[in-house]
Amino acid sequence: MMSLNYDGMPQLARVAASVGANLRVNIYQPSRTDRFTLGYGELWDGFRRLAHSTRLVATTEPVLAGVLGIPGFSGTGCGRSTVRVAPDGRILPCTYWPESRLTVGDLQTLGHAIVETAEFSAARLTPMDCEGCPCRGGCAGRRALMGGLGAPDPYCPFARGERIHLDWERATEGDLPKVGSACTTVVSAL
Ligand code: SF4
Repeated sequence: MMSLNYDGMPQLARVAASVGANLRVNIYQPSRTDRFTLGYGELWDGFRRLAHSTRLVATTEPVLAGVLGIPGFSGTGCGRSTVRVAPDGRILPCTYWPESRLTVGDLQTLGHAIVETAEFSAARLTPMDCEGCPCRGGCAGRRALMGGLGAPDPYCPFARGERIHLDWERATEGDLPKVGSACTTVVSAL
């Protein structure tokens, strides 16, 4: 979902449904350019439109999981249980992580202890103001790219003192690949 298409999400869900597929929605992250970055209102407008026109299959997008009160949501896997290997051989806690000194060699040497490195520890950090927030600090990659790692997620309504209500019908969650490791939202058209 990006600034160009947030208002076309229901149509995209219908295109997916026409070939028997779910729609998987990831929020645009400005790792190269912020030309397509969603504004706060645009992001929640996009999710509202989806809530009116689809069933929610699953979400691991942290601010959405916080708003919906997804049972058992305890934060993202970033910095804890997911490891990304960039095409240039760098190891990242998140696909969009701005900087990393880690290489495939480090992963071979450290194994699971890769999560103790500065890059992975930074991705686990919860900003002080976000302790106890239902979004669990939101998305660290987004914070690093958009406002500062120590600042609240720019899309978190709780940090703004706002409440967002989404009345979203749930679908049965199937066996979906990569839902737990990626900040993604899967929907099926009504
Ligand atoms: S939720 Fe995690 S994997 Fe997703 S963009 Fe943010 S930091 Fe990266």
